[in-house]
Amino acid sequence: MTFLSLSHLQKSFGPVQVVNDFNMDIEKGEFVSFLGPSGCGKTTVLRMIAGFETPSGGTITVAGKNQAGLKPNQRNIGMVFQAYALFPNMNVFDNVAFGLKVAGRPQQEIASRVKEMLGLIKLEHLADRFPYQLSGGQQQRVALARALAPKPQVLLLDEPLSALDAKIRVSLREEIRMIQQQLGITTVFVTHDQEEALSISDRIVVMNAGCADQIGTPAEIYNRPATRFVASFVGTLNLIEAKVIDPAANRVSIGDQGVTLREPVGPVKPGDTISLALRPEAGSIAEGAKGDTALTGEVISSNFLGSVVRTRMRVGPSVISFDMFNNPGLVPPAAGDTVTLRFTATDLLVIRD
Ligand code: ATP
Repeated sequence: MTFLSLSHLQKSFGPVQVVNDFNMDIEKGEFVSFLGPSGCGKTTVLRMIAGFETPSGGTITVAGKNQAGLKPNQRNIGMVFQAYALFPNMNVFDNVAFGLKVAGRPQQEIASRVKEMLGLIKLEHLADRFPYQLSGGQQQRVALARALAPKPQVLLLDEPLSALDAKIRVSLREEIRMIQQQLGITTVFVTHDQEEALSISDRIVVMNAGCADQIGTPAEIYNRPATRFVASFVGTLNLIEAKVIDPAANRVSIGDQGVTLREPVGPVKPGDTISLALRPEAGSIAEGAKGDTALTGEVISSNFLGSVVRTRMRVGPSVISFDMFNNPGLVPPAAGDTVTLRFTATDLLVIRD
């Protein structure tokens, strides 16, 4: 059942429209990420949900209640920001207690709720510390506890991990997801990091220029990008230029090599150019590799990335990257080598804009 509904949301700053007919229904307990490049309007949508910005059009409802006209403190929403927004002059306990004190909760209830929250983020032992005595990761955990203490209906996270170093970012995102699931709290998470969004979300909204380009589960977004923008923004997808040979037979050419696609090429005629997508992990150049489709090309480079070696090869007008799992015996192809990549025709997706 829909819990948080965003319907035909619009936002303009002066003449500039930054959110343009944004629609989404979020279920109770869902973890939804807004993913998109800088400036696409993610934070503006979040700030409208929180009540910090007034929509220029459209409606926001939470649990069936229209939020129009409600101030941020009347919305029962918890928010965590990118920069550590803890009160520097208050210790951890007082920071977490803040919302409960403002709400006038009794002393005893505040003490037990703060204890519970500090237990949740595993920082009971640091209750007396001040923000400057905490690491960045600890500060963000306190910010999370402070947001959750008043039992909000919705949790909003605005790039809460982007100021942290890579290792802490990964462990804290897993912790956030565990806490979110434990509490069953409806959560919206803003990020421009596709790996982050793919790893912790129930669903992802890929935003482009103020609109939702695609809404889907991480697997749907990664495996079946709906638009060229989603394809290029999510994952390191190959975008391959192909020429239509026979639309009825879904026959195209990539450079001078013919390929039969499994899906319809769409309303095109012979000679038209279309875009295809292929994941770098889809194919193999190993001897005896399986696959009903093959592309042969000249290797440009091979780069060691740790768990995989990524090789780039030129096929007609396109450069195609493919990955080989690293193992001690692996000899990656060298620049100038000719290799044949085998894959299944279903791995080649037709990208429509
Ligand atoms: P980032 O990841 O960089 O935070 P974002 O996707 O969250 O990007 P927003 O912060 O929502 O983007 O901003 C969307 C656009 O709206 C940007 O072009 C921004 O400059 C503009 N904008 C945001 N707030 C205001 C404001 N108060 N007045 C004028 N323009 C604004």
